[in-house]
Order: sequence, then structure tokens, then C-alpha cells
Amino acid sequence: MFVLKCSECGNTFKVDRIKDDELVACPVCEAEYKVLLKDGKVTLEEFVYENEDFGELTK
Ligand SMILES: [Zn+2]
Repeated sequence: MFVLKCSECGNTFKVDRIKDDELVACPVCEAEYKVLLKDGKVTLEEFVYENEDFGELTK
């Protein structure tokens, strides 16, 4: 059991099983994180959707 903290809203939530490179979502604000498992420690990396390039909308 891991306790994860959402850096978006500050909520903590528990996850029973977790795998490296897995995506988890905060149950409160639905922010998505990528799990990084290293040496038994869990780190959350903010998940950024790819291919969302809004930089060229004003052509
Ligand atoms: Zn959250």
C-alpha cells in the first residue's frame, strides 16, 4: 500500500499496488501522474499529454 500526494490539490490517496511507469489519477481533482518506482520509493511525475500543441492555432 502506497500513500500518494497530489501536488495539484494536496489530497493524499492510497493505492494498493503500483507499477513503475503506471499512470495514477487523483480521485479528487483527477490530475494524472506517472509513477516512478525507484529503490522502493514512489515518486509522482506530473503527466503531460503528448501531442497537445496549441502553439499554432493562430495562423
Ligand atoms: Zn488532486
